[in-house]
Amino acid sequence: MYKDFQSHLRTELSSIKKAGLYKEERVITSPQRADITVQGGKQVLNFCANNYLGLSDNKRLINAAKKALDTHGYGMSSVRFICGTGDLQKKLEEKISEFFGTEDTILYTSCFDANGGVFEPLLDENDAIISDALNHASIIDGVRLCKAVRYRYANANMEELEECLKKAQKQRYRIIVTDGVFSMDGNVAPVDKIYALAKKYNAMVMVDESHSAGVVGKTGRGTTELYKLRGKIEILTGTLGKSFGGAVGGFTTGKKEIIAMLRQRSRPYLFSNSIPPMVAAAGIEMFNMMSRTNRLQDKLHENTAYFVDKMKKAGFDIKPTQSAICAIMLYDAKLSQQMAAKLLDEGIYVVGFYYPVVPKDLARIRVQVSAGHSKKQLDRAVAAFTKIGKELKVLK
Ligand SMILES: *Cc1c(COP(=O)(O)O)cnc(C)c1O
Repeated sequence: MYKDFQSHLRTELSSIKKAGLYKEERVITSPQRADITVQGGKQVLNFCANNYLGLSDNKRLINAAKKALDTHGYGMSSVRFICGTGDLQKKLEEKISEFFGTEDTILYTSCFDANGGVFEPLLDENDAIISDALNHASIIDGVRLCKAVRYRYANANMEELEECLKKAQKQRYRIIVTDGVFSMDGNVAPVDKIYALAKKYNAMVMVDESHSAGVVGKTGRGTTELYKLRGKIEILTGTLGKSFGGAVGGFTTGKKEIIAMLRQRSRPYLFSNSIPPMVAAAGIEMFNMMSRTNRLQDKLHENTAYFVDKMKKAGFDIKPTQSAICAIMLYDAKLSQQMAAKLLDEGIYVVGFYYPVVPKDLARIRVQVSAGHSKKQLDRAVAAFTKIGKELKVLK
């Protein structure tokens, strides 16, 4: 059997390569941070990690994790409901609820699992899920696992959402689902308008705060801070793998009956291991730190404004951003790859995206700014962009 299957796979793989869609992985040999070393010893400035608050190599988090290794051991070797619930996991759930101003929280090993396990236990074929077309793959998969009737509206398009809501009046319960920040453009979902429509058409709301938590809102509490909706959204999901230290882990936080039902019925929670104590301990330390100071969020906002301003002045075409994601528009797929490669030669690590990751003819380079970047490093990036931009005749 395998001989046939092998030749099938080889054909598929070579057609992926021919289409220029084969994903190669760059190997990093230093900790994840603003300045990294990649295999071969080259030093580059990193502008493509989700390390928005620069916490991936934070000493306080590392020490908290080390301490927990001594006090709580390495792994839990169990799902939560058998014997995988420790005091640190419980404490972290409390801290997450406090941070978002929600009633209760359930941890998962990833936000992919949180989204995969949120719909099926709560809704069935009598209900409706109304989803933004640009929602994350894990939301799409979660919706697929649920029998609810599906509606889809174009990215952040409130007229289309309203149409969906009208049609969904036929169903028993309705939930509108959106990413908080869309990862390719950096735009924040209009959660205020979504919430108003939800009130008007009797629906619930779920926001995935993966790219918005730690970033959006003055204190990084996410879209509910930005739109003054703290405690009002029924379900928030998020990750510990981006702003919040970048290790691993996800969560669903919101109304307590929803969380209680997920603990009973959510399959990725019931049938997958507990997050390790050291990750929980570092998470607790991180939320404690954020309750004491807003230094990192302030720095991130300052850095993003600084970078966008300098890039605009240099003549680049940047999508308006309300997050730490800056889309440098190039439109042409080949140009985006060429430019990213040349920037890497200049010691700036960024990634060019093109169809099908972004719409046809909207190729771009995505820059992710971090509180971990110094002004000097941002200046170096702008200088390199400007040099290569001139070389490739990108600048206006
Ligand atoms: C990154 C991301 C996820 C997945 O988070 P993990 O914890 O890495 O699984 C889910 N949703 C959105 C919107 C994301 O950006």
